Amino acid sequence: MPDAATNDSPSIFDGLTGQEHAAGILDNILGSGAPSHAYLFHGTGGTGKVEAARRFAAALVCGAGGCGGCDDCEKALRGVHPDIVMVEPVGAFITVDQVREVNRSVNLHPGEGQARVYIMSPAEAFNSESANAFLKTLEEPPPFAYFLLIASGIDQVLPTIVSRCQLIRFQPVRPERIEERLREQADLSPVMAQAFARVSRGNLALAEELASDPALAGRRQRYIEAAARLTRGDTGTTPARLAAELLAEVEGSLEGAGVEQPPEGFFSATRRQQEQDAHRRETAARRAEVALALDMIGTWFRDLMVTASGAIEAVYNKDYELELEGLALPSRTEDYRRAVAVVEATRAKLGYNIDLELALQAMFYELLEVL
Ligand SMILES: [Zn+2]
Repeated sequence: MPDAATNDSPSIFDGLTGQEHAAGILDNILGSGAPSHAYLFHGTGGTGKVEAARRFAAALVCGAGGCGGCDDCEKALRGVHPDIVMVEPVGAFITVDQVREVNRSVNLHPGEGQARVYIMSPAEAFNSESANAFLKTLEEPPPFAYFLLIASGIDQVLPTIVSRCQLIRFQPVRPERIEERLREQADLSPVMAQAFARVSRGNLALAEELASDPALAGRRQRYIEAAARLTRGDTGTTPARLAAELLAEVEGSLEGAGVEQPPEGFFSATRRQQEQDAHRRETAARRAEVALALDMIGTWFRDLMVTASGAIEAVYNKDYELELEGLALPSRTEDYRRAVAVVEATRAKLGYNIDLELALQAMFYELLEVL
């Protein structure tokens, strides 16, 4: 299938990989000439939702409905259009102060374009206080204002917000499409392109990062190897040691990255707030990396299960095919399935305020029992 949303006429969404369905719906909405004032773009992370929102916003501010070539479109696509405002969390949440700023500015007539558009990402970051402050504006904005909300997990968005938006679903990108993209862009062996495309499970952005960031690719390898050592029953693999090693790897990734700074100028924070926000961002980054580690470990046990049941061609971690073949025992297919469940259960708890070290020790303890 081509990248274009439709095969006949050019579209502002051309080139959005793997989102023909969502792009088709958005094209129809724009074609109808009567877009709603609030949309929630939702679905797997890394599938181009923010990029699609930028393009949709371009079509709203452009006098020609998204020609792609005018000054409004060009600025919108570069993310510098003055009538398109990006609202992102400060620390863990989109705060009530940020929402008040939106409530105030929403009534200002667009300066350059045909509309004023707010892209708010992620919508999971509204807390009940900021959501309450936002509901009236979301429900009855001025005729020229639009809200494009972005969420990976719609279940984590407050229902009061969800119910006031039109929903647009973004599908995971098919692994073959991701593989194609990786082969075009990066100097990767076919085996690695296939492995990264498959282990990222529809998250195109993650696959591209694995392909372009050797540090991330290295961590993926070490997370997989921890799971492989467990499977082989290597000596010295105690739950405490495995958990400590994994967390050391996670901390190393935070040092390298340097935690992101908040968007400047949207509202000014006191120094104390800034420190709290920095701490929250670090906590969020740590949890995201642990989640990634568990996802990678989960793919290993899934691959063992698949290999043990005789379907080695369906393995995600193609670069470990030989090792998987050597280790997977058909008689233990059910144990591998249980190992996948153990990892997934721990992964599901990460959203809560849990002690990471204890949770990981408990997971490795259970895995040792199962295996
Ligand atoms: Zn234009």
